[in-house]
Amino acid sequence: MTNKQRIAVLGSTGSIGVNTLDVLARHLDAYEVFALTAGRNVALMAQQCVQHRPAFAAMADVASAALLREQLQAQGVQTEVLAGAEAIAQLAAHTSVDAVMAAIVGVAGLAPALAAAQAGKRLLLANKEALVVGGAWFMQQVKAHGAVLLPIDSEHSAVFQSLPEDAATWSARVEKIILTASGGPFRQRDPATLAQVTPAQACAHPNWSMGRKISVDSATMMNKALEVIEARYLFDMPPEQLDVVIHPQSVIHSMVQYRDSSIVAQLGTPDMRVPIAYGLSWPQRIESGAQRLDFMALSALTFESFGDAAHKQRFPCMTLAWQALQGAPGSTAILNGANEVAVEAFLQERLRFDQIYALNAHVLEQCVPEAIDSLEALLALDQQARQAAHAYVTRVSAC
Ligand code: NAD
Ligand code: MG
Repeated sequence: MTNKQRIAVLGSTGSIGVNTLDVLARHLDAYEVFALTAGRNVALMAQQCVQHRPAFAAMADVASAALLREQLQAQGVQTEVLAGAEAIAQLAAHTSVDAVMAAIVGVAGLAPALAAAQAGKRLLLANKEALVVGGAWFMQQVKAHGAVLLPIDSEHSAVFQSLPEDAATWSARVEKIILTASGGPFRQRDPATLAQVTPAQACAHPNWSMGRKISVDSATMMNKALEVIEARYLFDMPPEQLDVVIHPQSVIHSMVQYRDSSIVAQLGTPDMRVPIAYGLSWPQRIESGAQRLDFMALSALTFESFGDAAHKQRFPCMTLAWQALQGAPGSTAILNGANEVAVEAFLQERLRFDQIYALNAHVLEQCVPEAIDSLEALLALDQQARQAAHAYVTRVSAC
């Protein structure tokens, strides 16, 4: 019998997935990789299976799974290979799994994250879209099934580390949560030129190396809007107690302001292995592999308001967070579905960069959400938003 924590990494070939395996490889005495899942990157998944020898690996489709099975057999790796969204959700809820890293990008990660929550797992949630779509209902499911939700988004990990341990006392003590934002690659760009931004420019983030979807979201600051929504649900904090400040150096990862004016912050070098290691080991701490912060090497920590006139023009997406949170329940799912289509269309050069905001605002106004009490209801809302967003893309790309 082993008393190692058995981990399932969903989205193991992505930026968060690779960083998670890096942390796990430093602690082979304490953790065992039980299952890996990915979309279509068979080559990297095969390498990961050779190194980590998981009991199971799952790919999003049958063809990728067949290819992986072939490659693993040729190398004598015993991993059992599965295919499809259902298999991924089953692995997330597998009785042998202790903790699940939910690092699939987009709403595709909702069903497996929910399956892990409903199976009462320790859920390490990187997939912010799952929470933006699932909202309060997702949090209820976590609670009802005795799951433990640990945020992996660096800002939310920072807030979690800055909050008192007893969640029941948060609302009495906390005045506001202040999320920091780097401002992305276009913080100083002339807003009048944003229509010409290319996908390559949008994906070149100054401080973080990440997947393409979140990189585009960082460039529009839709990422921060999603994070405001994520914070609202994770910490059950009213929207008016959530604030954002632009902090280009990404050293302060976020803060909690208390009722006596005291502010508690979490600092460090920008490296996702820190929140990942914290999620894995909480309430303990383990080595993450991240470089230590050298205060003497920092020239300055600076701050800007996203409400400045030029930033308002650069980052109109920011206001959509509060707009969606003030709308009917389900509005945040609509906003997320719209944005996923907008980002994809931008990456395919079917939508201009500045039209991402226009599409999101349009779909949020147009779609009327209905009550949510199931995964099916959430996915129906997502579909409704996607249809309206696709229609918008077709209309503007015909112009
Ligand atoms: P990524 O694009 O690098 O990786 C995504 C992973 O999901 C890959 O393994 C891919 O194969 C898998 N995947 C994609 N579509 C799938 C599908 N339909 N079915 C099954 N698997 C699928 O993305 P990332 O940057 O690692 O981000 C992952 C999540 O973590 C996102 O929700 C993102 O917002 C969040 N996040 C990322 C970072 C970061 O630094 N990269 C920071 C904070 C939060
Ligand atoms: Mg973040």
